Amino acid sequence: MTRMFSRILIANRGEIACRVIRTAQKMGVGTVAVYSDADATALHVAMADEAVHIGGSSVSESYLRADRIIQAAIDTGAEAIHPGYGFLSENPGFVDAVVKAGLVFIGPSADSIRAMGLKDAAKRLMEKAGVPVVPGYHGEAQELVVLASKAREIGYPVLIKARAGGGGKGMRKVDNPEDFAEALGSARREAKSAFGDDRVLVEKYVSKPRHIEVQVFGDNHGNAVHLYERDCSLQRRHQKVIEEAPAPDITVEMRAAMTAAAVKAAKAINYSGAGTIEFIVDASQGLRADGFWFMEMNTRLQVEHPVTEMITGLDLVEWQLRVAAGEPLPLTQKQIPLNGHAVEARLYAEDPAKGFLPAIGTLHHLTFPASVAEGTVRIETGVRPDDTISPYYDPMIAKIVVHAKDRPAALRAMEDALLQTEIAGTVTNAAFLAALVRHEGFAAGDVDTGLIDRDLHSLVVPVAMPAGAKELAVLHASGLLTKIASDDPWTALRGYSHHARSHYPVTLGEPGTSDAPGQTTRYGVAVLSDDRFEVATPDTAVELRVRRSGESWHITGKRINLTAKTAAIPQGVAVIARGVVATFALIDPLQRADEAGGAGDRLIAPMPGLVKSVRAAAGDLVKKGQILLVLEAMKMEHTITAPHDGKIAEIVKEGAQVKEKTALVRFEELETAELTNK
Ligand code: ADP
Ligand code: ADP
Ligand code: MG
Repeated sequence: MTRMFSRILIANRGEIACRVIRTAQKMGVGTVAVYSDADATALHVAMADEAVHIGGSSVSESYLRADRIIQAAIDTGAEAIHPGYGFLSENPGFVDAVVKAGLVFIGPSADSIRAMGLKDAAKRLMEKAGVPVVPGYHGEAQELVVLASKAREIGYPVLIKARAGGGGKGMRKVDNPEDFAEALGSARREAKSAFGDDRVLVEKYVSKPRHIEVQVFGDNHGNAVHLYERDCSLQRRHQKVIEEAPAPDITVEMRAAMTAAAVKAAKAINYSGAGTIEFIVDASQGLRADGFWFMEMNTRLQVEHPVTEMITGLDLVEWQLRVAAGEPLPLTQKQIPLNGHAVEARLYAEDPAKGFLPAIGTLHHLTFPASVAEGTVRIETGVRPDDTISPYYDPMIAKIVVHAKDRPAALRAMEDALLQTEIAGTVTNAAFLAALVRHEGFAAGDVDTGLIDRDLHSLVVPVAMPAGAKELAVLHASGLLTKIASDDPWTALRGYSHHARSHYPVTLGEPGTSDAPGQTTRYGVAVLSDDRFEVATPDTAVELRVRRSGESWHITGKRINLTAKTAAIPQGVAVIARGVVATFALIDPLQRADEAGGAGDRLIAPMPGLVKSVRAAAGDLVKKGQILLVLEAMKMEHTITAPHDGKIAEIVKEGAQVKEKTALVRFEELETAELTNK
């Protein structure tokens, strides 16, 4: 007789912690969250029944602190620990400590994790079990001469891999024997610093590689099943970007061979719980039942598990809890359904135009689609509007998952979902993901792991700012939009006609690029009638009609026909249209100085950023409104001006990277005489 846990602790953060909590709640299982300093107000903390603070913001002080996490479980009466993915999820020492503390680890045994933890040993084990393994050298020898001669035997190109590797680190493709020694050195250095283990293996680099993996599940009663395959061939730097299930164009024979090999692998290590067997597939001559090889096993729930849930209609976290509580697998192999097609895209705070540089920022505006054309959408996220993407953790904002009747419909659903996703406050890869979903080769199912790199130039293209975005930003900044309260255009702005011809001044900074800072323009806004405005610069004037439709504005004028939302962001405004976000800086000397903390004798940074230029020096006498420095943050330039007349005592250095609330300028006590003498 088994009994479901009454309470579990989730040793993770972000979307996966929220995901696990949701299933636990559905099953009536109590939840305990753990959190770091940076996550004190995070969604996973708010969702859980109880939360325990486990330390500082860096992962080594919190989410990797096995001792504190286990203590938190004991203190709160949790019976089991769910590790999520990453962090301690594949750490056999942690599993041993959990078990020693009398708790249940929701995952496989420490022995299973050890058996698969090192890629070389895992490959030797799989070879013995009769699972096809990539031809290569997985032995103990590590001398350059030995490895180089093995590489020659295998035949170039080869791949050097850290045996302790993960997340695509410590991996080098080598095309020619001359480059082997250098690639080996650099793979070793990366492996040493990332995993503390510089041992490597060498294997054949598969040409036109596709990554196809099989979801497996085992229980403590000797059963093991598979839940079909996922294709994760869309990768950048060996990291998955878009995943889908089932694999495009997989044949019945290929699926039968791969799933049988995966179940064989799981059984070889008496696997219990959720696991993934990753295979590399040679797609150079189409998918062939003899053209796949074991790469590694991930002994945990995978990031992309939702696509499997969507095609099977099953809840993998529920299965994990049941198996960990001692129940047999809920379904037999024959009972596991496969319906339609599912796709997942990983939405990140990162800048594709800057080599996918991870970004941070506060999500001042955040809206996910509630529904999509032609299918269903599911959002897995750990953030809410106004939450912050901090520099401490993976900058994933959400996983967007869609399900539809077939692959073409699922891709259209995904494009729709991405274009409906609205985020202001940080830069994201949403437009890149949308371009990827539209990619012809991908749409045709002609995928391989090199696709993104080959076509990067066409996938990373700046999205043009729609006509009217600037004008809408100006109208937002003028404050006049808030007067349009009604959906009925004829009653809009009633009572404002007496303001006609009076000009509201607005100074707007356009978004810059990495090479060119955005231009700053002064506008004047005049109210012409209930729903008509004039937006003018010294040289031009444009007449606009504005109507409200739901949360959006519809603005029309000469060559302008735009439906978009606006959102206030610090010192700026974002204009959000389908698939585009344009951010503008608002420059209002008086208000700006107040917001920058001009009340005291110091000016503080309103947000983290880079000091782009400094226009004053210590000892300078400055006038109210004078520009002191320019701060670059969130792709915008923010001009920091003097809030009052004064003498500068200290000012930050050009090029300094400042945190939010860092003092930028300190004023000396003001001597009126000095100022007037000048
Ligand atoms: P998958 O095969 O499921 O895509 P990865 O091996 O890429 O898994 O890693 C899964 C996730 O876990 C990634 O998003 C990564 O950020 C995170 N992760 C991996 N290793 C660590 C670690 N040591 N510490 C924290 N997070 C990690
Ligand atoms: P990690 O632990 O970092 O996930 P994997 O062994 O799973 O390492 O490999 C990561 C990715 O590297 C794969 O998804 C695939 O794109 C690529 N890769 C791995 N092995 C090969 C190979 N032999 N030939 C071609 N590509 C490979
Ligand atoms: Mg892998």
